[in-house]
Amino acid sequence: IKHIGVFTSGGDSPGMNAALYAIAKSAEVNDIKVSGFLKGYEGLIDGDLIPFKSHELKKITQKGGTILKTARSKRFLELEGRKKALQTLKANKIDALIAIGGDGTFRGLLAFSEICDIPFIGIPGTIDNDISGTDYTLGFDSAVNTAIENIDKIKDTAESHNRIFIVEVMGRDSGYIAIHSGLTTGADAILIPESGKDFIYLLNKVKNYNNEEAFLVVVSEGDELGAELVASKIKEINSDVDLRITRLVHVQRGGNPSAFDRMLGIRMGVAAIESLLQGKKNVMVGISHNQLHLTSFKEVVKQHQVNNELYELLELFGK
Ligand code: ATP
Repeated sequence: IKHIGVFTSGGDSPGMNAALYAIAKSAEVNDIKVSGFLKGYEGLIDGDLIPFKSHELKKITQKGGTILKTARSKRFLELEGRKKALQTLKANKIDALIAIGGDGTFRGLLAFSEICDIPFIGIPGTIDNDISGTDYTLGFDSAVNTAIENIDKIKDTAESHNRIFIVEVMGRDSGYIAIHSGLTTGADAILIPESGKDFIYLLNKVKNYNNEEAFLVVVSEGDELGAELVASKIKEINSDVDLRITRLVHVQRGGNPSAFDRMLGIRMGVAAIESLLQGKKNVMVGISHNQLHLTSFKEVVKQHQVNNELYELLELFGK
């Protein structure tokens, strides 16, 4: 392997830059040239690429976001777009690709592998932690820390005014950010898309709510839920409550990565290069029991489940 292409895709997440630095460093040590494609699959289609130098990248290891920019690409969903991307790889003599992104990005690589047989390696980069084959995705820890910091502040006000606060956190269809940020801030109720029971717990608690204390609900964004719906259900039961909604939205995506995410990015970046050197293809680097390991894209794109221990915690603290 002489020339690797790298890109970030889907939503940005803190730790992506650390992974890019590690890829550049490890490739340099192994005499491999690296080029970065800009804006995910869009850059691959348009041949928009920049050379990678580790001494430049080490300056941005601590920064959130991704210096390669990221995008969602409608064109790559079409065969025509993927054929253009293949031409870009051939024209630039790229013999392997590393992608940092979420499950959609790996679905894209699976589709691409039908017409392109160079090795692809994935690194899970999303704040949602919703990818099979890894306990942690890059950016999740930072996003939870940001959420906690903000919820702590909201709690101070909730307690001073005896208000109900509903805080909506990110995570798309995954409740991981809500579970972690809700449990660790002492939320009275946590609602996640994967569970149906938590709504009942919430409503039971609200029935006994006496307007004389703070009441914190952490709810995950998601098709079925959302802060507005929760607020209207609470109001149906108790119309007198002093209730406020806060959506943390994109503040959770930005900011400098935590120590955990920087280290995870560095470890996964190096592992991605090593996997290529070992001849691996179409696999994602993941971490379980603090050990890095590889999982095929076919497994990775299967539906991700919240683990049982977390469900049990939700149930215990929901009572
Ligand atoms: P995040 O979890 O942060 O949203 P993601 O990687 O899941 O990240 P998506 O928008 O779902 O984000 O996917 C990124 C891109 O991957 C899409 O914009 C699209 O270009 C490509 N992609 C996704 N699914 C497919 C597919 N089945 N075939 C081809 N390309 C795909």
